[in-house]
Amino acid sequence: MLIHQHFLGGNISIKDISGDTIVLENELRDTKGDWFYWAFCVEGAENRTLTFQFQDNRLGYYGPAVSYDLENWHWLDCVEGDTFSYSFTEDEHKVYFAHHMLYHPARFFRFAQAHHLCVEELCKGYKGSSIPSVTIGDGPMSIILTARHHACESTGNYVLEGALEELLACPIPHTTVFCVPFVDYEGVLRGDQGKARLPFDHNRDYDSESDSIYPECRAIKAYADKNGCHFGIDFHSPWHIGDVNDHVFIVQNSIPKLPRFNQFGELLQSLMTPDALQYEHQYDYPPETGWNKSSTQFSVYMSKKEHNHLAFTIETTYFGTHENKVSQSNLIALGRCVARALRRTLSEASVSIPQ
Ligand SMILES: [Zn+2]
Repeated sequence: MLIHQHFLGGNISIKDISGDTIVLENELRDTKGDWFYWAFCVEGAENRTLTFQFQDNRLGYYGPAVSYDLENWHWLDCVEGDTFSYSFTEDEHKVYFAHHMLYHPARFFRFAQAHHLCVEELCKGYKGSSIPSVTIGDGPMSIILTARHHACESTGNYVLEGALEELLACPIPHTTVFCVPFVDYEGVLRGDQGKARLPFDHNRDYDSESDSIYPECRAIKAYADKNGCHFGIDFHSPWHIGDVNDHVFIVQNSIPKLPRFNQFGELLQSLMTPDALQYEHQYDYPPETGWNKSSTQFSVYMSKKEHNHLAFTIETTYFGTHENKVSQSNLIALGRCVARALRRTLSEASVSIPQ
């Protein structure tokens, strides 16, 4: 039997194995403080029942997400505190377990190919690999969509995919949609937490006064400096679990723009379809409260661009609630609703288009 992290997104450390009980910890790597992401693979455990024991705050309401191919995920739906057990059938030679439903970059590349989207190189990443981006349309109005400023936050990628699908099926006139689906791409590949990466993480690398330390952020800033940003959405996942983290919420980042935030939130809620992970405007995070104090980040940088209508972070829960439980398909459906709200907002708002 082999328990390992040698795959795209892998992150685990084995602390102890005694009989059929395995004690595991996730690797924080260069993240400051505690974070909760992990993903591991078990091979050669056919016909065995194994118990996996974690630290606090590592398992969600439904136990681990389970996959055989790193692309299709389901919840185990069984968890006892910080422990879960799994009975491997005789056919289960290789099984992946993760904190939540991972989003494999191969899925995005397949999506792009199926929709005849050309994947281009944004820049070389901070470790030298090619950072992917896609562009839809060529109008003067600039929409910038990003995900994975924090490497582990994959629910945002599903929502982003749904938004792109909708924007491809029904484009917004006069717009260019510029999309960087994995900003910390190299962190995604390695299975890093990404959040609170030292000296600071990608979403803190948007100081308008100084140069970025990550080439990905520098390139996104340069794109916005050249083309503007009439609307920006940065797709994230929140903290592990509990309270507002069990919902979908927009982080409202400006008191003067609060009427626009409320208008967008009410509109998005009204456009929710039954197949979507449900969003409710009441969970939006008000500006200058709790942890939501203005800081250096993508959305703040973009909202300062001339003619910007809104730019924000949308946080999509890892697990949801029993009434509103996360699945791959309902995350994508949520993304379609976000794109429809975006289309309606841009067609109704008097957003200035540069000539
Ligand atoms: Zn985040």
